Amino acid sequence: MNKIIVAIDGFSSCGKSTMAKDLAKEVGYAYVDSGAMYRSVTLFCQRNGLIKNDVVDEEALQRVIDTIKIEFRLNEETKKNETYLNGENVESEIRSLAVSNQVSIVSAIPFVRKAMVLQQQAYSKDKGIVMDGRDIGTTVFPNAELKIFLTASPEIRAQRRYEELKAKGQEEKFEDILENVKKRDYIDQNRAESPLRRADDAILLDNGNMTIEGQKQWLIERFNEALKKANA
Ligand code: C5P
Repeated sequence: MNKIIVAIDGFSSCGKSTMAKDLAKEVGYAYVDSGAMYRSVTLFCQRNGLIKNDVVDEEALQRVIDTIKIEFRLNEETKKNETYLNGENVESEIRSLAVSNQVSIVSAIPFVRKAMVLQQQAYSKDKGIVMDGRDIGTTVFPNAELKIFLTASPEIRAQRRYEELKAKGQEEKFEDILENVKKRDYIDQNRAESPLRRADDAILLDNGNMTIEGQKQWLIERFNEALKKANA
């Protein structure tokens, strides 16, 4: 049975990563969180003073972009993949509102995207991969056998992110999160390089009123159909 590539794109805080992780676990595929890669580059910029007043020092970043190493390592205790930036576990820090607030300006930079897309494509050598992001079905894997485009209202997405941060002990105002969600939607959709858009052959899913279990079942059905088609 040949393995396939699954690309899950969509707006921020739509639950893409929950869906992607659940599917990868269920079918024994690798999962790659492409957003974590852009978040790690953003954290690197913040720590090294490369962003001032929401403006990135692109020249300085370009000089060091090849030294930024992002890896995913399995946490043996939680059995979850965690993100490492130059050898340091940054899984929690990259999810902060401070990083969320600047990630869209960093991810709009063409040479940053180029570097990340090359790394993402390298992960798929053996297929059998589920990747989530904004441009996976359009740019990273335009030939992916299964493409999903997820959406839900900004209010529903902000509420989910609010609860997620709260559960981690990061208390933020709902209004600030909603503003961040809307701002990121705008920048992600309007950037010149690989803007967020639904690939023509992606299946659209509005999961605003779906349970996590419901969307998991829905995705497994789509996966089985795509696998069957790819092996016909
Ligand atoms: O998915 P997540 O919300 O963690 O992504 C953070 C940000 O990274 C997005 O708002 C977007 O600006 C950027 N991103 C991207 N392309 C991807 C994945 C994420 O531009 N493939």
